[in-house]
Amino acid sequence: MDVWDANIIRYNRITKAPADIFYQVESNVFHRVDLPLSNAPEGGVQQVLIQGEQDAFRVYTDTNQPPVITSSPGGALHTLTPSTVLDKTATIWIESLAPSTGLVAHVYSNYALGVPLCTGAVTIASARVIAEPINYFPWNPAGLPKGCQANYVIRLDPPDIYDDYITWKSINNKVFVYSPMTGTNTLVTAGQTTGLSGLTADIMGCQLPTLFNIQVFEPKTVNVVVWIVRDNFGNNAPLIAGEVANRIAEANGRLLYAAITLNLVAIVEVDNTAWQIVDYISGIPSQRMGEFNAVPNPSNGIKVFFVNTIGNNTTGLRSSNSIAISTSANQSTLAHEVGHACGLVDIYENLRNSQNVITASVTGHVESNRMNPLDWAAGYYPENLQQAELILRLLMYGKKNETKGYIPHGNVFGLNTSGADVSRKVGLDGMNRQPQHQPQQP
Ligand SMILES: [Zn+2]
Repeated sequence: MDVWDANIIRYNRITKAPADIFYQVESNVFHRVDLPLSNAPEGGVQQVLIQGEQDAFRVYTDTNQPPVITSSPGGALHTLTPSTVLDKTATIWIESLAPSTGLVAHVYSNYALGVPLCTGAVTIASARVIAEPINYFPWNPAGLPKGCQANYVIRLDPPDIYDDYITWKSINNKVFVYSPMTGTNTLVTAGQTTGLSGLTADIMGCQLPTLFNIQVFEPKTVNVVVWIVRDNFGNNAPLIAGEVANRIAEANGRLLYAAITLNLVAIVEVDNTAWQIVDYISGIPSQRMGEFNAVPNPSNGIKVFFVNTIGNNTTGLRSSNSIAISTSANQSTLAHEVGHACGLVDIYENLRNSQNVITASVTGHVESNRMNPLDWAAGYYPENLQQAELILRLLMYGKKNETKGYIPHGNVFGLNTSGADVSRKVGLDGMNRQPQHQPQQP
């Protein structure tokens, strides 16, 4: 299904103009205009023309009925049929199909159409709204813990709408627009009530549909015990103990939007040269991870082993009861592995064979049936945004990528490790937000 129309349909209202008044609307702004008609007699006949790019604008007398006129470069006066004759207080509606500019002219005559009683014209322009519910971390998060703040952003094409004409609005009282109230980006605060909320905007008097769905969560704390694996002589550590808090903080930056906070309980320095290297070949159980799994968990949370290297140039690895992080990890690695511990899976935009030749890839642009409806929202993604590009934004993207970090509401279509393009569990609704690695039995 292709729903691009929904991306760009916007309505504005104009009413009839008295004679000798000409209304000019600001360039590149799609504006609501009220043109009173207090001096004209009742019971006239309306004629309207709309000039502009072919089919760029459509005129309706009722938004539930087909359009009565579409724009063309020449444009001609169109007499509205008797059934749609408008009295002097009625309205017409202009629909824009693409960012464009045009002219709407209007003539109000007596019944014989002989004497124009009044005329008016407005220039109009429309802008495309771009709001991406799956964005680059940390913009537009799908989830928020109670009381937490996050940034939300939209773009306009063309961009020259004054900030004051864009007003943010909460869908219900679970989130609040904090500051600023107007402009292309804002800071939103989650309240103290959990559940689904949302955010939208009013642009030049046009109330847009829900742009961002926001799930407000009860915060969870996940305890972490960290092992730093040094060589047999206590040297060659993958990182110093003082660095661990920074790694935890980086992970928490991303996990915040799943309302998860990692809490560092203890750091254990272990001297074992063999343990500094984790064997890993895709599809084959790692012997070393098996050994890490067997280490008793002194806490009720998760176990993380910082090591020097993991096979296959891997930055992070998790198994049933432990996580390993190598020195080639970046600031997204630990959060990604915790995502696995919460039950999420990897997603890929393409796969390569041992000769580095692409063997499978995701093609085509984003569509509503390739993600959860909450992540599609109003569908105001850029028209040319590729699904493969969207996948790179996700925390559960399976390749090394420092900027990945987005946790969507639900599943997203992409490749699994076999190269099949299927629905992948990468979102909030698939997470166990309180993961546990086999706690030590009392
Ligand atoms: Zn992974």
